[in-house]
Amino acid sequence: MEITATPHRRSLGLARPRVAATLALLLVLALPLTPVPGYWITLGNYIGLYALVALGLVLLTGIGGLTSFGQAAFVGLGAYATAYMTTAVHASPWVGLLTGLGVAAIAALAIGAATVRLSGHFLPLATIAWALSLYYLFGNLEFLGKFDGISGIPALKIGDMELASPRAMYGLIWSVVAACTVLVLNLLNSRAGRAIRALAQGSTMPQAMGIHTANYKLLIFVMAALLASLSGWLYAHLQRSVSATPFGLNMGIEYLFMAVVGGIGHVWGAIIGAAVLTLMKSQLQHLLPALLGSDGNYEMLVFGVLLVVLLHRARAGLWPWLAAQWAKFQPAAPGVQAPATAPEGYEALLQVQLPPRGSALLDVRQVVKRFGGLVAVNGVEFQVAAGEIVGLIGPNGAGKSTMFNLVSGVLKATQGEVYFQGRRIDRLGARRIAALGMGRSFQHVHLIPTLSVLENIAIGAHLRGSAGPVAAALRLDRREERGLLYLAAQQARRVGLGDCLDMPAGSLALGQQRLLEIARALCAAPSLLLLDEPAAGLRLQEKNALASLLGQLRAQGMSVLIVEHDMDFVMGLTDRIVVMEFGRKIAQGTPAEIQANEAVLAAYLGGIEE
Ligand code: ADP
Ligand code: MG
Repeated sequence: MEITATPHRRSLGLARPRVAATLALLLVLALPLTPVPGYWITLGNYIGLYALVALGLVLLTGIGGLTSFGQAAFVGLGAYATAYMTTAVHASPWVGLLTGLGVAAIAALAIGAATVRLSGHFLPLATIAWALSLYYLFGNLEFLGKFDGISGIPALKIGDMELASPRAMYGLIWSVVAACTVLVLNLLNSRAGRAIRALAQGSTMPQAMGIHTANYKLLIFVMAALLASLSGWLYAHLQRSVSATPFGLNMGIEYLFMAVVGGIGHVWGAIIGAAVLTLMKSQLQHLLPALLGSDGNYEMLVFGVLLVVLLHRARAGLWPWLAAQWAKFQPAAPGVQAPATAPEGYEALLQVQLPPRGSALLDVRQVVKRFGGLVAVNGVEFQVAAGEIVGLIGPNGAGKSTMFNLVSGVLKATQGEVYFQGRRIDRLGARRIAALGMGRSFQHVHLIPTLSVLENIAIGAHLRGSAGPVAAALRLDRREERGLLYLAAQQARRVGLGDCLDMPAGSLALGQQRLLEIARALCAAPSLLLLDEPAAGLRLQEKNALASLLGQLRAQGMSVLIVEHDMDFVMGLTDRIVVMEFGRKIAQGTPAEIQANEAVLAAYLGGIEE
């Protein structure tokens, strides 16, 4: 096993920078105790408020892969909700807070439910429309004071302490930032966090792991909206008046900009980005008019240039760069560790009850798949029995991948039926089929390169846990989490990756990445493994290692369906082979029978061999 680099992951700042971060936070919190000018305190307050919104964007955009330009509108909801409740209704600011969070959550659920299932540009476009319409709504509603806004908002009170001055608000704002940062870090470091990180890979991989992608997308959209609304609540009671201007699309773009500059995939990047942009903006607002001799929003111009430079030079943002500098003085912190022993009950989960050898497992009956006029799969029938390895082979374009996707639920058959363990599955989605006990790997590996091997494999254990995001954020999931990591580590050892649990998955060779995907699938204790061209792109040595692993799994009672282009690879490995050409099954039999079959030889010699 050749392993070249052994860098530790620090991708999300989850590791030891915790000590450094705690120290930094204490320093930040102590600022108002020192005789710094009031202007500094004001800047500090704004950095904290912006960091909260950017934190939501890190979760939503950087980690979950969903872009929103509309976060300023959610800030506005939080600010206007408390402004209205405390002035018109004379309710307490705490009622204002709950109202703001409630309204933001409902709005996010409504926008999210309509858009997160749609791929691509729908969500960003919807958030732009949302930002624009809410801005005009704020500015035109009589009861929200039109474009004049609402003033006379009372100061916050905690017990007898009135937070009337910016200096007094400072402590609250930064305590909220610290608490939210910790909650988000906890969340990311859990079953739900792995599901969220898997979202950025598109939905095929997470759904094959049994992850309800639409729900998790909705979850992070709502969470980002809640963080923005919280920021708006603090803003309203700091400023004591609100108007529509700071909640427009401009500001929505600026929030995104902060997250990108700080490092959009990193929790600490939210704070760094908010700080850098706020400080720069305050300097430029003094400097540029003095230099250019006239007023104007020139800082946006400078920001635009800065963004282009950043995208060329340090696409990942400032935080990864800072972390790399830090690493020169401080040895890399260990990442998430595999527990040495299993919590009670988890050892037993390793003893999987597989169906009795020889029983019918998969039954594909007269399946047809049409793409418009093209018939990609044309009346194919075959079976897989428990405990056997079946190969599905054929020249390029024969319909193998399509067949694979029909069985795993990624595509729906035009005609025909598919049964798995006696249950009809051809109308079920990929997530439901995964939950029934079908595990799969991908022809083009789908893993999270910056995340460790152990955590990547643990994504496959999603169906074996149940802890939700709230439990994770409050660290009430620790026993289950240790159990899932234990299961993941055992599967890693089973496929021979026990020595690289700590390494970023992206640093593995392709052959090892394929093994990782098999371990990830095994985590869910499947009774059938579906492998799509697992040998493609592998060197001979890696192919042999893969074949020997699959042989071992069969000896343990596992059943495997391999879709493969490489005839040599399947000949030595499989019990039976199904051959497809132009969407039809042209032969079926033992490897020896297939090797002697005229039609197969013609298909392969006639086709273009790679
Ligand atoms: P194989 O995996 O055996 O190389 P595929 O199943 O990928 O073959 O493709 C079979 C045929 O179906 C090909 O002609 C391919 O172009 C076509 N095809 C596959 N997927 C789609 C799709 N989503 N839309 C239209 N045609 C498709
Ligand atoms: Mg294919």
